[in-house]
Amino acid sequence: MNQLLDDKQFLPEEKDDRRRKVFESGKEILTTTDKVIKSYIRVSRDSREIVRIPAYRIQHNNIAGFYKGGIRFNENVSEEEVENLAVLMTLKNALHELPYGGAKGGVVINPKEFSDRELNLVSKKYVQRFAPDIGPTHDIPAPDMGTNERVMDWMIGEYKTIHPGQNYLGAFTGKSIGNGGALGRREATGKGTFHSYFWLIHEWARRQKETEEKLGTGVHLKQFNKLKKIFEKSDRGEPIQVAVQGFGNVGGVAAQMAHRCKELKHHVVAVSDHLGTLYNKNGLNIEKLISYHERHEQLPHTKKELEKEEIDAELLHRDDIITLEMDVFILAAIEDQINEANMKDVKADIFVEGANAPITSAADEYLHEQGKVVIPDILANAGGVMVSYLEWKQDRITQLYSQEEVLDEMYGQMSRSCEKVFAEYFYKELSGIRNTCYLSALKHLFLLLYKHGKLF
Ligand code: NAD
Repeated sequence: MNQLLDDKQFLPEEKDDRRRKVFESGKEILTTTDKVIKSYIRVSRDSREIVRIPAYRIQHNNIAGFYKGGIRFNENVSEEEVENLAVLMTLKNALHELPYGGAKGGVVINPKEFSDRELNLVSKKYVQRFAPDIGPTHDIPAPDMGTNERVMDWMIGEYKTIHPGQNYLGAFTGKSIGNGGALGRREATGKGTFHSYFWLIHEWARRQKETEEKLGTGVHLKQFNKLKKIFEKSDRGEPIQVAVQGFGNVGGVAAQMAHRCKELKHHVVAVSDHLGTLYNKNGLNIEKLISYHERHEQLPHTKKELEKEEIDAELLHRDDIITLEMDVFILAAIEDQINEANMKDVKADIFVEGANAPITSAADEYLHEQGKVVIPDILANAGGVMVSYLEWKQDRITQLYSQEEVLDEMYGQMSRSCEKVFAEYFYKELSGIRNTCYLSALKHLFLLLYKHGKLF
């Protein structure tokens, strides 16, 4: 936040001591969480045993709009984790200028160990406990790790029961189609993740060709040259080599986008899931892999399956994907995948964080120093929350947006966010793309706090 204080073009009317006070009070507000609610959900298990499960809803800040953030069902959920994720939501929504603040929820269970009846009870009890603090114009939850559209459907059902006669549909997003959900929501994060990379190479870097002398000689120029190398490779008719870790909602869709991309030529040389990696240096048949995944909910992992499906691929260990030869690595599985132990062995020049925090901060710093480019999670994987906003909007006007309208809006917003971040980062030579994102988000929040007369 000190960077904002030192940026004399930001709030130039505030000077000297008064300026310091204004920034200190902004810092104090944004480092204080508005509300932490902890409760216990009592549920009777199928065995008739009664269990008390800790549950949270944490509302960090709502200066930019109604609180918004997912609900996570995971056995490792803790108050600290939920609070950190709520702060991240405030920043993510601010970066993309969505009219939302940040919140997060969590329930300490392993959903795989709960039957459908038990999960339904947990979902309904969560809403009963937190109902006074949730609502379409107050705090709007969505799915997160361990929850999905079925859980959101149950939760909206309970919310409606508790609030008869009220406008209820906008109280949760990520619902199923037919229950107020948005067309294209499932694919939105994967499509947005690919778009952030595609836009950087194809739109932004191409446009900057003539002005690269402005970039000096340091890491920014090194990174720009890596971007240039990639689109020039495609222009020569050579495929850009892409690998995708994780083949779920985010990774599967991102791999398909790369495979189908017409403007840049890609070969998806490797994909992986929790069981292993598939590799073909001449490019995998992604359409066949998608079709297999739709039927089996995992990638093929035996020679026999590959032969049967007529898929030409080498079977490698799950983590081998991290250090294979490639130009672009889309990380769409879990956190901490590139870390101090393997950061020196990675070969890609561009890393795209479809998952949350797949690169540790030490590795992030190292890759940056090497002149590699990391498109951070806060920027790359916001397609989901952007479409959640449209879902909330369509629920308010009781009209269903077409899938085309949804994706057009998401791509438009993603391009605007990327334009803002990359121009700031490269031309002001800021210290990292992630930091540039945080700075841009904080600027937006500070300005709102200032305009609302909260900073004295
Ligand atoms: P998903 O459950 O659909 O898919 C996860 C994939 O990762 C699966 O293919 C799984 O097999 C694979 N995987 C798990 N552990 C792995 C490992 N160690 N190595 C390789 N692959 C592994 O989940 P998703 O919705 O695609 O989400 C992926 C990531 O993106 C998560 O971290 C999630 O929090 C994040 N994210 C998702 C969304 C969204 O809208 N879906 C939005 C923002 C962030």
